[in-house]
Amino acid sequence: MITFFPTPYEDELAYSIVSRYHKWSYNITGSLTTQELFEKNLIVKVDFFQNIHSLTEKLSHFSYITEDVFLKKFTMYNYYSAFLDFISKERLKDYMIHNKNNLHINHMLEINEYKALNHNYLKFCPQCYEEEHVNNVPYWHLSHNLPGVLVCLKHHQILLDSLVPFNGKKIVAADIYTVKENNKEGLVFYKELLLEVAKESKKLIDNEVDYSNIITNYYTILHKNGYVRNSGEINTEKLFSHFISHYDSKFLSILKLSFDSIKYHMTKIGYFNTQIPPLFHILLIIFLNKTFGDTLFIDKKTPFGNIPFKCLNIYCNQYSNKALNNYKIEIQNSKVLGVFTCKCGFSYKKDYNKSLENSNYEVISVGESWRENFYHLVYVKDFPLKYICKYLNVTMRTVYNELFRAFPFEKVSKSDIEKYRYHIKHNKKLFKCDSYTKALAWVLRNDLKWAHEQGLC
Ligand SMILES: [Zn+2]
Ligand SMILES: [Zn+2]
Repeated sequence: MITFFPTPYEDELAYSIVSRYHKWSYNITGSLTTQELFEKNLIVKVDFFQNIHSLTEKLSHFSYITEDVFLKKFTMYNYYSAFLDFISKERLKDYMIHNKNNLHINHMLEINEYKALNHNYLKFCPQCYEEEHVNNVPYWHLSHNLPGVLVCLKHHQILLDSLVPFNGKKIVAADIYTVKENNKEGLVFYKELLLEVAKESKKLIDNEVDYSNIITNYYTILHKNGYVRNSGEINTEKLFSHFISHYDSKFLSILKLSFDSIKYHMTKIGYFNTQIPPLFHILLIIFLNKTFGDTLFIDKKTPFGNIPFKCLNIYCNQYSNKALNNYKIEIQNSKVLGVFTCKCGFSYKKDYNKSLENSNYEVISVGESWRENFYHLVYVKDFPLKYICKYLNVTMRTVYNELFRAFPFEKVSKSDIEKYRYHIKHNKKLFKCDSYTKALAWVLRNDLKWAHEQGLC
C-alpha cells in the first residue's frame, strides 16, 4: 500500500508529481516506483501521461483528486484536446486515463509530428526555481514544458534547459543537481513573440476549451484577408509565404518547425484538423492577429454573407428573418460548405461556389415542427408532393427523405393498416404516382413486416 503521495502544486506536471514521489520513496530504480504506482514498468511520459486510472485507484485511500481532475489540471490533456472533435477528445481521454486506443491515437494525431515539437530537456524558469527552492519544493511546471513555450509568463524570463531528458527513461525531480544555467542567447530578441506564444498556450491548458470547429474561424478570416481563391480553395502558397516572412526562419527553427512541416500542416487545414499540432494553431492565430477567446468568434462578415442568416423553415417564427447565428464551415472533397442551423431544428448547407444563388441550398435536417406540418400536408390535406415541395421550398429529395422516416407522433389503427395494404395491392399500376408513394412510405414506416413479405423492400 502507498503510504504517502505528494500533493500537487499549482501548474505542476504529472511527471513532476511522480518524480517527487520517487525522490522521497528512496526507491533505487524508476521501475520500483512505477510498479508501486501503476503496477507495471513504464516510461512516465511528460506530454501524454498515461495510466491515470491505476494511479488514482492506488491513491483512493487518501481521498486523492479524481482521475478527471488529475487529467485536466496536471497533464497536457487540455492542450492536446482543444482542437479535437468530441469523439477524438473521448479517445484521447481513454488513452491517457486507461491506456487504451494506442494505435488509434498514433494515427489520429500523427503523434510523431506532435512529438517533433517537444523540447529535448525539461524546461524550468530560474526565478520560479529560486522561489520554490527557498520553500524546498521546486517542481517541473506544466506551462513551462508545452511545445514552443520558452518564457515564463510569471517572470517574463527565458526558460532554461535542465539536465533531465523530456520523455526520458528516468524519473527525475527538479533540484539543484538537475537544473543548470545555460545559453539563452538569441532568444531574447524574440521575447515579445515568445510571450505571445506562451500566453496562447497557457489559455489552452487553463480551460477545457472547444476549438473543434476552428476551421469556420480560419476560413472566415482567411477569406476576409484575401487568402481564398475564387474557387473557394485556401491559397496555401500565399499563406505560406506571408507566414514565413512574418515569423522568419530562425524563430520557427527555435520552435522546431521546419518550412516543410509548416507547409504540411497548412495543407491539412479543414481536412485533417486532428493532425495539426496545437503549436501550429497558436502560430496561425497570432499570425492572423487574433487570440483565443471571444474575439476569435466576433467576426460577423463571413464568406457566405453577414451573420445573422435566414431560417428557411416556413413554419419557424424566425422564417425569413435574419436571426440565425449558428453557422459553420465544412470542407468536404475540396468543396467549401456553409452549414446553417436554427433553434427550430432546421439546418441547411450551401456550396461556397453557389452561395450567391439563394435558392441553392440543401436541407440537412428539418426539425419537429416542420415534420408535423409536413405530415399534415401529405396525409391529412393529401396535397400532391410536387406542390408540397414548392410550398416548403425544398427539393423532392428532401420530401422523400422525410416521408420515409418514422413520425414519432403517428398513430396506427387497424383500419389504417387495411387501407394502406389495399392501396398498395390495387394501385401497383399507378407506380410512381403520388398516392402509391404515400402509401408505400406509410407501410414502410408502420407495417414493415408485411412490406417485406410483399417484396416491397
Ligand atoms: Zn518564473
Ligand atoms: Zn428556424
